[in-house]
Amino acid sequence: MAEGMENERAYIPESVLGVISGLKAGGFEAYVVGGCVRDLILERVPKDWDVATDAKPDEVKGIFPDSVYENQFGTVGVKVRNGEIRKEAPFEEDSADGLPADKDAVEIIEVTTYRIESKYSDKRRPDEVKFAKTLEEDLSRRDFTINAMAFDPTVSESKALSKEPKENKTITIGGKQYAVIDFFGGLQDIRQKTIRAVGNAHERFDEDALRMMRAIRFSVQLGFEIEKGTLLAIRNNSKHIVHVSYERIQDEFSKIILSDAPARGVELLHEAGILDVIIPEIGAGYDVTQSHHHYYGPYNTVYKHLLASLEKCPSEKLEVRLAAMLHDIGKPKSKRGEGENATFYNHEHIGARMARNILERLKYSRKIIDKVELLVKNHMFYYNVDEVGESGVRRVVKKAGLENIKDLIDVRIADRLGSGVPKAVPYKLRHFRFMVDKVSNDPISAKQLRINGNDLMRELGIEPGPKIGAILDVLLARVIDDPALNEKEKLLNLAKELARNNPEQLREMAKEKIEEEREKEEKNIKKRYHVG
Ligand code: ATP
Ligand code: MG
Repeated sequence: MAEGMENERAYIPESVLGVISGLKAGGFEAYVVGGCVRDLILERVPKDWDVATDAKPDEVKGIFPDSVYENQFGTVGVKVRNGEIRKEAPFEEDSADGLPADKDAVEIIEVTTYRIESKYSDKRRPDEVKFAKTLEEDLSRRDFTINAMAFDPTVSESKALSKEPKENKTITIGGKQYAVIDFFGGLQDIRQKTIRAVGNAHERFDEDALRMMRAIRFSVQLGFEIEKGTLLAIRNNSKHIVHVSYERIQDEFSKIILSDAPARGVELLHEAGILDVIIPEIGAGYDVTQSHHHYYGPYNTVYKHLLASLEKCPSEKLEVRLAAMLHDIGKPKSKRGEGENATFYNHEHIGARMARNILERLKYSRKIIDKVELLVKNHMFYYNVDEVGESGVRRVVKKAGLENIKDLIDVRIADRLGSGVPKAVPYKLRHFRFMVDKVSNDPISAKQLRINGNDLMRELGIEPGPKIGAILDVLLARVIDDPALNEKEKLLNLAKELARNNPEQLREMAKEKIEEEREKEEKNIKKRYHVG
């Protein structure tokens, strides 16, 4: 990456080139800016492309009539339909709010007029949008140096032709070299893997406290360190996070949790003093020891155990990671006694309620809250091979829901690994999975017949009693041999004949076949889980 950074995976979309050329043809400046420039230099593929221009929103709309003026921050969304930017109105397929009816076929390129930071008297939102004249001013209001670069993708030199590669200040994409505009040392900070505020860090966090969480988020997403002065400014301003809406906090928090280093992110939030404002419940476990035999050395406090569980969580799902981070959140409150004799009776129920409170505070969706609460509440489910039988497993499945079992097991794996035990999925958990499959599939059951006991009583006038079940078993045995028999009429005819036998005889007729099938099925499931 050092000299002449080259991104071989990315390319510049025609739509972006079209928007920038259009603005320039209208006599304006236009550049791609922000996160996408950072991602290109990092050899990542940008998620979205942002364009900055000195054209005012109305002027942008004048050039691209097929666009929406989206918000009060000077951003116009230019619509690109099947790769085409249209200049002729009307665009009747859109709804009244100007948003495209068929969202999938339409790409929106966000074009934002240069602006500067005006006062944030409430530390939440700027009081007004002030447009700026120059790109430099616009870049100076951005949060971090790595996010404050720009380039013009319509001006390039062929790499081979350029005599002096302006090393370090260019980026090569698709064999073409572009000059990077970098007023604040962003390229160098990318090289040194550093998150550094643009300008005075203290002022930048004072203007918008969310930037502190963004610093931590970028640090864990990119594997960068936060520069000392920037980190100090975060510590000094951490309390101001209360001025930020929980919707914005949640968004950054989720990105931290879904990154490759979620526990380091939570640890950074804690060290900075932000965690104690947004989720004080986690810090409450900081000194709470749980010297139970399976919490080894470095994992012996609730806090460390929760962070380690989050780090080791095998799932990429937000809900499961949140549950791993919160599964023992009820322990500080439920702890009784000290040392080896400490107990945490009922901590999973207390914890489930606390998890709900925390996630409601962070404005998570009902779906996520319900799921995390359920996983925390059920994380203590008990299983032991040869001790807990099918009915015990059925009870766990019934309580947690079959659709949640995989996630519940993932929380349990996170819990184990977060306790410092060496093996993630011991025989016991594999066996539990096998049992869940066994009790929930139940393929060899009368339920799969196209006929039931009621039909037999109603249609054939058979009295309620053991004979009904026995007939169904024989029918099942026949259907296993010949699936084509599984039709209501055929089954009823067969049943009429079978009804002449007594239950003993019927049972004998069914037994062999069904046993044989059940054994076969069990062998298959066992093979799948390596438990037999
Ligand atoms: P991502 O890859 O997650 O989208 P991003 O850097 O593109 O990261 P966005 O939130 O999409 O982040 O913002 C786009 C750009 O706008 C940023 O790169 C940055 O230049 C600027 N920006 C966003 N939020 C802020 C903020 N709170 N303060 C200052 N500048 C910001
Ligand atoms: Mg972005």
